[in-house]
Amino acid sequence: MKQVSIREINLFGKTILMRVDLNVPMKEGMILDDSRIRAILPTLYYLLEHNAKVILMSHLGRPKGIYDKKYSLQPVAMRLSELLGQNVTLAPDCIGEQVRIKIAELSPKRVLLLENLRFHLAEENPEKYLSFSEELAGFADVYVNDAFSVSHRKHASVYTVPQFFSRNAVAGFLMEKEITALSKLINHPKKPFYAILGGSKISSKIGLIEALLPKVDGFLLGGGMGYTFLKAQGIEIGKSLCEEGSLEIARNILKEAREKDVEIFLPVDVRVAKECKKNVDNFVLNVTEGIPYYLEGLDIGPLTVNKYASILRLAQSVFWNGPLGVYEEPPFNEGSFSIAEVINSLKAFTVVGGGDALAVLAMSGIGENISHISTGGGASLEFIEKGSLPGIDMLSQKK
Ligand code: AMP
Repeated sequence: MKQVSIREINLFGKTILMRVDLNVPMKEGMILDDSRIRAILPTLYYLLEHNAKVILMSHLGRPKGIYDKKYSLQPVAMRLSELLGQNVTLAPDCIGEQVRIKIAELSPKRVLLLENLRFHLAEENPEKYLSFSEELAGFADVYVNDAFSVSHRKHASVYTVPQFFSRNAVAGFLMEKEITALSKLINHPKKPFYAILGGSKISSKIGLIEALLPKVDGFLLGGGMGYTFLKAQGIEIGKSLCEEGSLEIARNILKEAREKDVEIFLPVDVRVAKECKKNVDNFVLNVTEGIPYYLEGLDIGPLTVNKYASILRLAQSVFWNGPLGVYEEPPFNEGSFSIAEVINSLKAFTVVGGGDALAVLAMSGIGENISHISTGGGASLEFIEKGSLPGIDMLSQKK
């Protein structure tokens, strides 16, 4: 890691402004999953042990620049208070006189949570309202970024605010863990290295595929995007998801992979149905037979699972992004769940990144042996594509 970490600076008695991702899923004011709150605890404990005063800032949802109670961080402040065993006050806003008063009252070893940053348009448009970033930066001696998952955005709290801190903009433990694991995967992967890619569209994964092509030994493809590749090879795919506009891209990727000696594995059998709905009749077809016009491929079949499992068992490094079928609708979750189990059983260095693959792990309860489960969806993909993120580049660099 080139970025300075919280371990490397003097924190004692300092006021810290820490960007965290507390954008938890909520329903009617209730937190559905508090993993994101738990995830920042190691960094928080460390700061408090060092007698720091901690100001936390986060966004929640998309309130579009105005106060909306629905997006208040109040439930998060309550849950955080329970987890930390201290009363975490929620400031009435994230900037302004009332906030400055709360900060002036803050004692060492205590935590103040600022209200949702996105109640101000300035958070997403920092260059238009620079005074917002300047005011936030003025609250503290040290800036900590522990929000990897939003660090691909050039927003005020991740991109502009750290620029005011010169040597004192540092990475928290969660950020450090992400950078270390993803850098290991893309810079020094142990071979063989296989990437399993699924999800709906090729068009959103081209950058990722291009970035991984020179690094991997092979791709194992599935999900909706697998059908565009099958069709590009002349296979009938019936009603399955296909991006007609990406057929040429798929052909180019297949060609480039051949030239680079990278193997591309496609499903050999698929689970099909007339449509994707509950309790629909479904069966498995061999891909070489072609999928009839009235059927839709909704998951990889058992032969594909076995084939992919035998390849993965030889791997030393594995990256997985995107579900291999419509995992939201059983039985079309079987392929993704089985592959998750295989990945979880490997001794290899295994990394799972991206929103829907995380949802597969959460739904199946699989994942305790996976080396790294990235908290970032778009952020982890962009990190793999570009080797860094805008918010990471703004942190102080080691000399
Ligand atoms: P993405 O956001 O591109 O990673 O795509 C995730 C979505 O892909 C999930 O909602 C899945 O239901 C969907 N998906 C996966 N496999 C298929 C498939 N065979 N047909 C249609 N959608 C799929």
